[in-house]
Amino acid sequence: MPDHFEIGKTVLGRSIECLHFTPPDYAKEKPGAILFGAIHGDEPLGGYCLAELVKELLAMPPGRETWIVPALNLDGLAGGSKNNANDIDLNRSFASANFSTSYKPGYFPGEVAEGEPEAKALSQLIDETCATRLIALHSPFRTVNWDGSGEELALGMAEHNGYGASSDIGYPTPGSFGSKYGVDGGCEVITLEIPLLEQDEAWRQNRAALRFALDLPV
Ligand SMILES: [Zn+2]
Repeated sequence: MPDHFEIGKTVLGRSIECLHFTPPDYAKEKPGAILFGAIHGDEPLGGYCLAELVKELLAMPPGRETWIVPALNLDGLAGGSKNNANDIDLNRSFASANFSTSYKPGYFPGEVAEGEPEAKALSQLIDETCATRLIALHSPFRTVNWDGSGEELALGMAEHNGYGASSDIGYPTPGSFGSKYGVDGGCEVITLEIPLLEQDEAWRQNRAALRFALDLPV
């Protein structure tokens, strides 16, 4: 069974849960992976797909050490809002070189980088685990976007879901997760954008891509 622990609490005190899976001995030296969903509370499909993935990992461990946070922005998820309970867009709030306090309406990054407990909890998890394969699940676009050293992984995942891979999401993203850990940090950062589908269909389309990312048979 995986370890199951809390990485932090949301603004409203909800417990942000994480599952930790240990791989077979031969895979222990590979860099670890972190997958997380619903950093935007109005994008529940990623969380659904990760919950399905967890069920499969219970039956067969991943091919590298893996941490899964099915839903980061639980307050937003509960209220159906993109932003957290302080109306901050967590995916603009990371301490990247391009973090900026100027913003478009709806994309408030906060007055200081990583001032929000949800972003802090995720950053702390990455610091503590030293995982470098970092996969964020979003909606509603249909693409496998990469930052940093994620190109090869993105191309491989895109072969499995047919979404196409790209390094440019098409608009500036100051303070984004990909800016901090990909552009600045050089990690394999993937932003998997899942189109608005029925839950089961979203999982069907992305199952193999997510298993591929964890070195599992697809
Ligand atoms: Zn999003």
